[in-house]
Amino acid sequence: MAVPKKKISKSRGGQRASHHALRAPSLAICPKCQEPRQPHRVCPKCGWYKDREVVAKEE
Ligand SMILES: [Zn+2]
Repeated sequence: MAVPKKKISKSRGGQRASHHALRAPSLAICPKCQEPRQPHRVCPKCGWYKDREVVAKEE
Protein backbone atom coordinates (compact mmCIF):
# COMPACT_ATOMS: atom_id res chain seq x y z
CA MET A 1 0.00 0.00 0.00
CA ALA A 2 1.29 3.44 -0.86
CA VAL A 3 2.20 5.47 2.20
CA PRO A 4 3.18 9.15 2.38
CA LYS A 5 6.91 9.52 2.96
CA LYS A 6 6.65 12.73 5.00
CA LYS A 7 4.07 14.21 7.31
CA ILE A 8 2.15 17.08 5.72
CA SER A 9 2.81 20.09 7.97
CA LYS A 10 -0.03 22.21 9.35
CA SER A 11 1.22 24.99 7.07
CA ARG A 12 1.08 22.77 3.98
CA GLY A 13 -2.34 21.39 4.86
CA GLY A 14 -3.59 24.91 5.52
CA GLN A 15 -2.33 26.10 2.16
CA ARG A 16 -4.21 23.27 0.45
CA ALA A 17 -7.33 23.92 2.54
CA SER A 18 -7.30 27.58 1.53
CA HIS A 19 -9.17 26.52 -1.64
CA HIS A 20 -11.87 24.52 0.17
CA ALA A 21 -14.20 27.32 1.21
CA LEU A 22 -17.77 27.16 -0.12
CA ARG A 23 -19.38 30.18 -1.73
CA ALA A 24 -23.01 31.18 -1.96
CA PRO A 25 -24.52 30.30 -5.36
CA SER A 26 -24.91 33.16 -7.78
CA LEU A 27 -28.49 34.11 -8.58
CA ALA A 28 -30.20 35.50 -11.66
CA ILE A 29 -33.79 36.68 -12.07
CA CYS A 30 -36.16 34.30 -13.87
CA PRO A 31 -37.53 36.14 -16.93
CA LYS A 32 -40.81 34.22 -16.58
CA CYS A 33 -41.77 34.73 -12.92
CA GLN A 34 -39.16 37.28 -11.75
CA GLU A 35 -37.99 34.94 -8.99
CA PRO A 36 -34.27 34.43 -8.26
CA ARG A 37 -32.87 31.23 -9.70
CA GLN A 38 -29.40 29.92 -10.50
CA PRO A 39 -28.08 30.66 -13.98
CA HIS A 40 -28.24 27.71 -16.44
CA ARG A 41 -30.75 25.90 -14.20
CA VAL A 42 -34.45 25.21 -14.58
CA CYS A 43 -36.43 27.71 -12.53
CA PRO A 44 -37.54 25.99 -9.29
CA LYS A 45 -40.63 28.20 -9.05
CA CYS A 46 -42.21 27.91 -12.50
CA GLY A 47 -40.22 25.03 -14.06
CA TRP A 48 -39.28 27.02 -17.15
CA TYR A 49 -36.02 27.03 -19.00
CA LYS A 50 -35.36 28.99 -22.21
CA ASP A 51 -38.91 30.19 -23.04
CA ARG A 52 -40.68 26.86 -22.47
CA GLU A 53 -41.83 24.66 -19.61
CA VAL A 54 -39.51 21.70 -19.10
CA VAL A 55 -40.56 20.53 -15.64
CA ALA A 56 -44.29 20.18 -14.96
CA LYS A 57 -45.30 22.10 -11.85
CA GLU A 58 -47.32 20.03 -9.38
CA GLU A 59 -50.68 21.30 -8.01
ZN1 LIG B 1 -39.52 31.15 -12.98
